[in-house]
Amino acid sequence: MILKDLGEFNFIDRIRRTVKVSKGVVKGIGDDAAVLKYKLGRYALFTSDMLMEGRHFYRSSGGYLIGKKALSVNVSDIAAMGGSPSACLVSLGVPRSLDVRFTDSLYRGIMSVARQYKIDLAGGDTVGSRKIVINIALLGEVEQNNLVLRSTAKRGDVVFVTGRIGGSLKKKHLDFTPRLKESRFLVKNFKVNSMIDVSDGLIADLGHILNASRKSGMIYEKNIPISKDAKNFNNAVRDGEDFELVFTIARSQSRRLIKTWPFKTRLSMIGEISSARNGELGIVRKNGKIEYLNKKGFSHF
Ligand code: ADP
Ligand code: MG
Repeated sequence: MILKDLGEFNFIDRIRRTVKVSKGVVKGIGDDAAVLKYKLGRYALFTSDMLMEGRHFYRSSGGYLIGKKALSVNVSDIAAMGGSPSACLVSLGVPRSLDVRFTDSLYRGIMSVARQYKIDLAGGDTVGSRKIVINIALLGEVEQNNLVLRSTAKRGDVVFVTGRIGGSLKKKHLDFTPRLKESRFLVKNFKVNSMIDVSDGLIADLGHILNASRKSGMIYEKNIPISKDAKNFNNAVRDGEDFELVFTIARSQSRRLIKTWPFKTRLSMIGEISSARNGELGIVRKNGKIEYLNKKGFSHF
């Protein structure tokens, strides 16, 4: 069998089944970041993301934006756990022929995000490679009572999404603001039952919450905030790299949330969680018809 036949998600599941973790790992493979025992009242969060030339970016976008993205995608994963980032390691695969101006601006991009969120750049690794590859590992932390997993959505929860969905390929996928302050506001003021950041696509990532929580869900097309850059609704909810937050909270908290939301970032109530364990995700179309969605999102192979 080759990896393509297995698919990315089965591949990761296969790894998950073969690794056994010690008691220090509160949550291993299967969420936006790993959760580790740390110090009294707090967990460490640990996440890593790799960007590859030709797949996630082209050199022509310039080092600065690519560097910004490389760190921002990790900040987005820490935000999705309810935590704050602290320190990162930057590992590079770079062609010998690469202009140093490119790596200079790459680091300027990384450092601009690092300064904004008070992240220390604490090390990394460098190897020669044909294509540019950037891997950043990011450490963060979260108060134990503010940790939010994908796997704890509750029946009757309301599903919210920040910002607008779709059209990120036009420019947003390189130049976006991870929803860190929104996440911290949420976990400090509400009981957020589950959360994920949208990297695979709204439907796929809400699907990850449903699968991990063993619940079903229903969303309303008319309530989904589509970006003006999106080609159409279908592309918007499937393309991914939106780096918005999808989260669920009890319906009884939703009015207060909408009333007290202090940010310019849009906040939309797009659906609800039901108790059916089959993991189905339905959508109520604008014409009132219900369809059941294929939750598959972007897969690397
Ligand atoms: P995200 O899109 O939020 O960054 P991914 O889809 O990349 O998440 O990863 C999903 C889960 O699988 C995460 O818990 C991640 O740590 C884990 N994972 C991904 N690739 C590997 C791998 N090669 N080995 C072990 N775990 C992996
Ligand atoms: Mg994520």
